[in-house]
Amino acid sequence: MTVESPVQRVHLTAAAHTVVSRECGRSLDGNETGGILLGHLHDGMAEVRVAGDPGPTAVRQPDFFLRDLGHAQQLAHDAFTRDGSIWIGEWHTHLAAAPVPSERDLATYARLLADPDLGFEAIVSIIAVANPGWDRPAAYAWTCFGDQAVAVPLILSTDDYCPTAPEEHR
Ligand SMILES: [Zn+2]
Repeated sequence: MTVESPVQRVHLTAAAHTVVSRECGRSLDGNETGGILLGHLHDGMAEVRVAGDPGPTAVRQPDFFLRDLGHAQQLAHDAFTRDGSIWIGEWHTHLAAAPVPSERDLATYARLLADPDLGFEAIVSIIAVANPGWDRPAAYAWTCFGDQAVAVPLILSTDDYCPTAPEEHR
């Protein structure tokens, strides 16, 4: 049975895009990097307002990344206080592999989706690769829900708010 993805497209604000572009440079050391994504889900769209940095205790390996949970929780707390943004997913780099969620990535997302305390309906995953250098990364968006991972369009904004967001989210 095919279930429609709760997220049909991902909109990255300029502020979040700036962080991803800058933080990708950490992968010059040969290890993946990344962070969490914070924002809103509405009308089949994920609006990413904040992209996190890895945090001091993140796991950074050539073929794996896992964010620093304490750092992520602090970012989430700050973003929620500021504009009600919630944790909607994560971004990370791939060094050798295609910009597709790996088996370990999918296992991480499955654990998040299965945790009732987190309340995820879907996980937004952005994977960045060098294009060809880390000064110009190329990013791809995925949405993971149930046991599926589906590629969705990634739309880069030139401002910090999504033009199609409902008024109450601004
Ligand atoms: Zn990965």
